Amino acid sequence: MTWLALVAGLVIGVALASLVMGRQHRREHQESASVRTSDDASSSRSESSRVFRALNAVPLGIMVFERRRPVFANAFAHQFDSGRHTDVLVERAIAELVARASTEGAVDHELDLYGPPRRRLSLRALPLAEMSNDGMLVTIEDVSERHRIEEVRRDFVANVSHELKTPVGAIGVLAETLSAEDDPDIVSRLSGRLHDEAHRLGTTIDDLLTLSTIESGETFQTEPIVIGNLVNLCIERVRAAAELNDVSITASVEDDLRIDGDRRQLESALSNLLDNAVKYSDAGTDVVVQAARDEEWIDIAVTDAGHGVPERDLTRIFERFYRVDQARSRATGGTGLGLSIVRHVAINHGGDVTVRSTEGVGSTFQLRLPAVNRSVANERSPSVG
Ligand code: ADP
Repeated sequence: MTWLALVAGLVIGVALASLVMGRQHRREHQESASVRTSDDASSSRSESSRVFRALNAVPLGIMVFERRRPVFANAFAHQFDSGRHTDVLVERAIAELVARASTEGAVDHELDLYGPPRRRLSLRALPLAEMSNDGMLVTIEDVSERHRIEEVRRDFVANVSHELKTPVGAIGVLAETLSAEDDPDIVSRLSGRLHDEAHRLGTTIDDLLTLSTIESGETFQTEPIVIGNLVNLCIERVRAAAELNDVSITASVEDDLRIDGDRRQLESALSNLLDNAVKYSDAGTDVVVQAARDEEWIDIAVTDAGHGVPERDLTRIFERFYRVDQARSRATGGTGLGLSIVRHVAINHGGDVTVRSTEGVGSTFQLRLPAVNRSVANERSPSVG
């Protein structure tokens, strides 16, 4: 609304200035072609040209209509008059809006253009009481990004509710069944499941909190990190799960690799990659961690000989809650948030994460981080645990 008030003011200003200038110009023309422009007229003209430049600079389409015909369009609005199919749709929607506004007063309309690129425009027509001849102001605002963010937020809330409701529902049912059960074997089995569901709820909440902290970037603190130590620490964290699955882990890390980064975030990212490599591997296979320098980058690659990711899912697995195989992810205690955490950590560090995978053969997830050019000879190793 503030925008509209401002724009309406500017447009009225421009309209009045044009009117005054038009009259002034006509009068001057009538008097004599060689009469010098007065100080007033030239300052009014430069004022008006400043207003025109301002109107052309705003990231909002502004049009003025008189008797339902356009008499002014700023630069932003002109992008919709190049004759494309979508421009015709915009033109038609505006014409309808202007017709409605002339009888109903101010009216709004949201218009979806399926592109490409896909866009959503917010159109508004507002009668200008100050002008005669049915003067009408039309604004065109590109709300695509706002709309996209709103959609992502809505999806996220729906996903979180679903992810939390499933274990909470299961806990309720298990507790109820348990309370009516006397058989010690069944009681032991049900309480085991109760424990699993409670654990799942806990890890989902933990991952959500981690993701939200990492996304906000609020606690980001850099310190020198020795890659060899980081790799050892993360391997130790998944060692027990790897032994349970009969998966071996080996590491090959170049000497003297270090970066300046957030220790907790990097530990979280690498632990997630290793946890997945172990989770999605079969017994008797190997997971290999390699870290090497490539000019100004340090690449940490985690390779497994596991199930791999189908090609159609490769671009989606970094999305929150996206799982290729829901049942398997759930059975292994997955939250669907691990790779989102990895992606955000990579972005926060000015790097990225990529994946190469072949279904049935295995995967390599590569975390690429900016390197630091310093020796690590005297760096103290953190304790592994
Ligand atoms: P989850 O908690 O389900 O493991 P992630 O975000 O870590 O969630 O991973 C998303 C999905 O990507 C997983 O559900 C799984 O289908 C797939 N995935 C991740 N890492 C691997 C891997 N190393 N091998 C095969 N599939 C993987």
